Amino acid sequence: MFKALRKPKAHVAEMERNRKRIQDDQESVILTLKNSVKLVVTSDSFHCIRNIDYKYNCALCDATMESETKVKENHKNLAEHQRLLITHPYLEDLAENLIRQISNSNCYCTLCSIVTPVHLVTSHVLSNEHKHELDKALLKAKSYRPCENFDLNHNK
Ligand SMILES: [Zn+2]
Ligand SMILES: [Zn+2]
Repeated sequence: MFKALRKPKAHVAEMERNRKRIQDDQESVILTLKNSVKLVVTSDSFHCIRNIDYKYNCALCDATMESETKVKENHKNLAEHQRLLITHPYLEDLAENLIRQISNSNCYCTLCSIVTPVHLVTSHVLSNEHKHELDKALLKAKSYRPCENFDLNHNK
């Protein structure tokens, strides 16, 4: 009886672990902002690429591609995509919220990997979901520090 009761819990923990591993497998990028805040986000979300209905979609180029890593990585290097990344920088007023305005009517939130209408951006960055993603990105950047700490202690 006892075992049967414990089983579901262990199963949840295992699912949680697998989910984490999938997230960790994604290539990450460290962004250092003008205000020197550091954030870690996935390479895909930095490039405005999401996985929708088993296909990749680049919100910046408004392009859909096959769900193949190679195709996706090639897309990131396209001249037109690179040009759009530069011409649609993160909105400075929103700093670490990592919002790009991708068209007249839409913005892209790198932290949440979602497209949101321009007029809803303010409420989006104040939402709990967004704040949670922001905390995660800040925390991930901090987890890169132990290496630096190690060096400091070593020099003492
Ligand atoms: Zn693109
Ligand atoms: Zn967001």
